[in-house]
Amino acid sequence: MRKINLSSFQIATSEIARDINRRIILNLIRTKQPISRADIARYTGLQRSTVSLIIEQLLAEQWITEGALGHLPRGRKPRFLHLNNERAGIIGVNVRPELTTLALTDLNANFITQDSLPTPTNPQLFLEQLADRIQNLLKSHPNTFCEGIGVGVPGRVNRQTQKMVFAPNLGWRNVDFKNYLEKVTGLPVEVENAANSCALFELWFGKHSEGIHDLIALTVSEGIGTGIIANGQLVTGVDGMAGEFGHVSINENGPLCRCGNHGCWEVYASNMATSNYYAQALGKSNGKSSNERSMPSFEDIMRLCEQGDSRARESIDRMAHYLGVGIAMLVTSFAPRLIICVGEVTRVWDRVEPIIRDIVAEKSPLANATKIIPLDDFAYPRLRGAVSLVLQKHFVAPSVA
Ligand SMILES: [Zn+2]
Repeated sequence: MRKINLSSFQIATSEIARDINRRIILNLIRTKQPISRADIARYTGLQRSTVSLIIEQLLAEQWITEGALGHLPRGRKPRFLHLNNERAGIIGVNVRPELTTLALTDLNANFITQDSLPTPTNPQLFLEQLADRIQNLLKSHPNTFCEGIGVGVPGRVNRQTQKMVFAPNLGWRNVDFKNYLEKVTGLPVEVENAANSCALFELWFGKHSEGIHDLIALTVSEGIGTGIIANGQLVTGVDGMAGEFGHVSINENGPLCRCGNHGCWEVYASNMATSNYYAQALGKSNGKSSNERSMPSFEDIMRLCEQGDSRARESIDRMAHYLGVGIAMLVTSFAPRLIICVGEVTRVWDRVEPIIRDIVAEKSPLANATKIIPLDDFAYPRLRGAVSLVLQKHFVAPSVA
């Protein structure tokens, strides 16, 4: 139940009621397609005439299409309704410190085409190169009407200024993706933390969250991000800064983090932490310090782990242990029904999952209430998350309080 905000509210006029019904119907078609008018009336409890009126409007605006005739034993054959995938495209951008990926998708977040660029260290240069790539994607599909651009970033975005203000692993401060990209492309742009975007994607379009209102997206990459959905809504905190669990210190005497703090969770459980573990183990065995060797990538360590390399295995097991420590903290704090894990580590889930499960069971009294599910890394969950920032605008319920 949400408290009514008396300093900013809108009376529920009949227009708002119609808008809410329209969004409910659009959501039903999206999730149950193909579906008939009669079934929509049955699901919603709305009168057939109201349903028909809204359907006519959605057809006229080309949000949906009418497909083949259905088969019924007797009576009039119903026409099935679908979301109109050809109506529009959406551009999703997933920014990471080394590589940025982007894609043009349809309304179901299916990829039409993809591209990528190495992320330069200079944010202005990055924005210019990214805008070029976006323009190229648009030019290559001149018949697709683009609804907007969603950008998922490894940092926190201030809701007031819309600037990315905290991104220790990029080393950028106050970067204004939104204004720059809107000016250059003429399209609306939504920018959000990558973990928040993944959480929103799972809530709106995910396979695992049917009927679930409390979930957490955990992104494990160069750092660790968390996006928290409580009671069906993203936990944003003041100016959108909430959810930075990767930078909660689990050991105040621990190693220095890029954020300036000591012993942050991500210093122990990220891909970068695992590379450090491996480099330290190598250093020990040949008497060199880890700084004297070039740092192995997380992908190299996963490959070595699969080949049976004992140091790689130990490094990944240690990462899994600390992932468990942090996940136990999330489970105990939020009691989510579901935690989805996003990142390269999901490719070695068979190895890490039992370690995580044991630690969570040991440390959290609520362990049994939470399912922990890895999302397929090769299905690009972060990129789909960015797309959902634009998509959800059309499916989200309007705020009346
Ligand atoms: Zn930190």
